[in-house]
Amino acid sequence: MTVAAITFDLDNTLWAVEPVLRHAERAQQDWLLANRPRIADTFDPPALFEFNKSVWKRHPQLAHHVSQMRKQMLYELQLMAGYSEEAAHSGARKAFDVFLRARQQVEFYAEALEVLELLAQDYTLGALTNGNADIYKTDAAAYFDFAFLAEDIGASKPHPNMFQAAVERVGVPAEQIVHVGDDPEHDIRGARNVGLRTVWISSNGEAWPGGPRADAEITNLGQLPSVIDRIH
Ligand SMILES: [Mg+2]
Repeated sequence: MTVAAITFDLDNTLWAVEPVLRHAERAQQDWLLANRPRIADTFDPPALFEFNKSVWKRHPQLAHHVSQMRKQMLYELQLMAGYSEEAAHSGARKAFDVFLRARQQVEFYAEALEVLELLAQDYTLGALTNGNADIYKTDAAAYFDFAFLAEDIGASKPHPNMFQAAVERVGVPAEQIVHVGDDPEHDIRGARNVGLRTVWISSNGEAWPGGPRADAEITNLGQLPSVIDRIH
């Protein structure tokens, strides 16, 4: 079986996402505290959490558009705190920009860049993410030939459209593409349903939760080149 391309999930596949999100949320919060202080007077943290949940519930059409959802949340939050529509619009844009800039400051897993550089010599590499990380704003930019965000496609993994977009972009049969990801449902089941080969990465050493297994399982990206060789 020839391998032509490898697609990667990003969060928790190439880097740990929790520290990045914590950092980005804090940057956004700092901006709001400095520029929209009435929000902190109106909402304590539990109320803020409930309010954010209510925005999710009221805007199901934004479920696959995480960036728009966050901007909507920021917008409504400012209106609730008594700011004008104009202030809320510009504040949502600015606070989101602050969030997004911090969101791209990822710290790759130790072996990631070396492995991507190596694989990029022989394969087309793509990124498929449900989040709003931009691989082209990271140190791995040069290794990637394409990247699809769920918000570009209008559907999130495990939806077949995400994987079909990759198949169309590479222009080879699905079985010549290997998808690498940490989420058994989003990444492994989703990719397998479209006919891609799959590699499950469990960086924390979790056990496979059940159901049809990936073609290969790894605990460290350093193991990926030999696994790809074997599939190839
Ligand atoms: Mg992931």
